[in-house]
Amino acid sequence: MESGILAVPLQTAMKTEIPLSLAARRGLMGLCPSCGKTKLFASYLKQVEACPNCGAHFGRIRADDAAPWGTIIVVGHVFMPMMFFVSLDAFMPFWAGVAVWAALFAGLSMALLPRSKGLFIALLWSTRAPGVNNG
Ligand SMILES: [Zn+2]
Repeated sequence: MESGILAVPLQTAMKTEIPLSLAARRGLMGLCPSCGKTKLFASYLKQVEACPNCGAHFGRIRADDAAPWGTIIVVGHVFMPMMFFVSLDAFMPFWAGVAVWAALFAGLSMALLPRSKGLFIALLWSTRAPGVNNG
């Protein structure tokens, strides 16, 4: 009879564990890594204090430089080489080509930055990194 009392919290704790890959996917989509039902960000890069649906806390999680680093890795090392293989000289003057590439990379960076931050917040939350209060 006393073992049943002890078993309930352990089972509850095991059911709330979210696989790292699922939490990462939810973070990439800008959703709560815990439940996936609400938005992780209150504005462009400001994460919510806590999920209104499941109560998971994200306010203390600091992705710091990881999000820009991830964005630079993808934009600078994956998409930037395209610039060397695709020549816009046949279609427009050199200055216009530079403007097109700059606008493309700026837009791509703006689109990827919140996703990168969501990924790193999800990874920090899921791994319970030191200093993170998962509530
Ligand atoms: Zn949630």
